[in-house]
Amino acid sequence: MGKRIYYLNYIKYWWAYDIDEICQLYKKYNLHPQTVRQWIKNGLPTMKGKPALIYGNDLIKFLGKMNKSNKCQTEFHQMFCMKCKEGTDPYRKQVQLELKNGFVKAKAHCRNCKNIMYKSYKLDDFQKMKTHFHVVDVLELYDCAHTTVKTHFPASINIHANESGQRELF
Ligand SMILES: [Zn+2]
Repeated sequence: MGKRIYYLNYIKYWWAYDIDEICQLYKKYNLHPQTVRQWIKNGLPTMKGKPALIYGNDLIKFLGKMNKSNKCQTEFHQMFCMKCKEGTDPYRKQVQLELKNGFVKAKAHCRNCKNIMYKSYKLDDFQKMKTHFHVVDVLELYDCAHTTVKTHFPASINIHANESGQRELF
């Protein structure tokens, strides 16, 4: 399962929610009361008393922070899909790579919605990427402003890119 991004505009900042109401807000995600209790343990502030009530404003702040960290914490083999709002696996594990200034820019389609996703990897991760993905194409692009600093691709790496006209697989 990918990490969720929680929409914050469902939350009324002036409202005090109980745990069940928060679950109702994110019914679409099947948010479980246990998850909300975990948030409270992780620092989501509650008002004194029982049942525990949470200020909308506190919830917005807490989830906002969590969204931010979830966004950068996709698994190695996942990319963040802007449409699904979560990290997903590439469709058929197919990725197209661009080598640029020492980075590998990966392009793939979301497995769930086929939206195009991008992710940058370090050049050192290339071997690892090959074990996780089916690399369909590799493009070498050089930044015109830095023509002297060409990204030299290690010769030991065996790229199974197509030399033929299959550049536009996506
Ligand atoms: Zn998607």
